Amino acid sequence: MIIVMKADVPSDSPEVRRVIDLAQNFPGVTTELHQIQGATRSLTEIYLLGPTGVIPTQPFEEFECVEKVVRITEKFRSIGRHGGGLEAVGFEYKGVQFSQDSFHLFPGLCAVDSPENVDAMFAALAQHGIVTSRAGAYKPRTSPYDFQGRGAACLPSLFDTAGKHGIRIISMEVTHESHLDEIQEALAAAGHPTGVIVQIGTRNAQNFELLKAVGQQTELPVLFKRGMGITLEESLNACEYVASGGNRRILFCLRGMKTQLGEPHRNLVDFAHVPVVKRLTRLPVCIDPSHSVGSRTRAPDGLLDVFHITAQGVIAGANAVLVDFHPRPEEALCDGPQALLLEELPRLIEDVRIVREAYQARIERVAGPAADG
Ligand code: PEP
Ligand code: MN
Repeated sequence: MIIVMKADVPSDSPEVRRVIDLAQNFPGVTTELHQIQGATRSLTEIYLLGPTGVIPTQPFEEFECVEKVVRITEKFRSIGRHGGGLEAVGFEYKGVQFSQDSFHLFPGLCAVDSPENVDAMFAALAQHGIVTSRAGAYKPRTSPYDFQGRGAACLPSLFDTAGKHGIRIISMEVTHESHLDEIQEALAAAGHPTGVIVQIGTRNAQNFELLKAVGQQTELPVLFKRGMGITLEESLNACEYVASGGNRRILFCLRGMKTQLGEPHRNLVDFAHVPVVKRLTRLPVCIDPSHSVGSRTRAPDGLLDVFHITAQGVIAGANAVLVDFHPRPEEALCDGPQALLLEELPRLIEDVRIVREAYQARIERVAGPAADG
């Protein structure tokens, strides 16, 4: 059971204390306090754990400071909306807000290769006022003979260069829990010039021990990629491992499904699930068009498939886009064929702006008096 307090009731207020005292009067019931940054306000929620099925909601609803009492369903306890009873939550990291209403582009390198390419990438982002990027140091490759990423060795210069160009957040995959320490140590040694969102790649979506480790640390938020060959429900349950470990600063990322039915694309694009994930969970939803498409093929209308597919996710309400770029894709050590060129960045920004505005116009229309869905 979750008791949602009225807007801006602080978690250390006497009102919250009185609700907790009442809850703890019920045998076997314990409480957990959560302070959550919503899209427009800060929320305090009190989680009642234990045999709550027999607890009546009414005594809690009678408190002036309580907005509502929500009985949690079995599924997706930490990330779920529980039948629409809970609103979406967001979080702030390095001064950047993430929620089901926000929107950010994360253009960047699939993998860090050379300091020159990192510098060129971040400089291009800075020129367009973008502060969120991606860069892989630990790469989960299909073949052991392929480039595995530069690992911890590249972190000092990566973080310094990010700081130099005002990049506030880098999304970076970890494939082993020791990478969490390596990243945190390198950030500290560099004086925190930037931040890292820890990416769980599709291949590790059900690596439960890694998910627990990532969930138990709360310094770095998490970008959780849907498993490529499991159901959406299985992926959401896997994502619960992160949230139930204590880290609720999560973006859920769609990146296409592995099936030959998606050919000639690398994966079958699944961005129809953007509104589904927003309905089932409280999490902001990211899309990755690069790993969905896997190539630079272009439609007869002149737009790259990556642009078309990005638009499909954005028109459906995606909150973030992770997209591969490379200054010299032919030299990239990983996923060069799908990388966009730096000179394509302004066109992508403009295309995404058009589509995001169309999405916002659509939702304003349903919110208006002539709402008809
Ligand atoms: C990546 O984003 O670099 C990546 C490997 O993606 P995925 O886990 O979706 O394949
Ligand atoms: Mn890649």
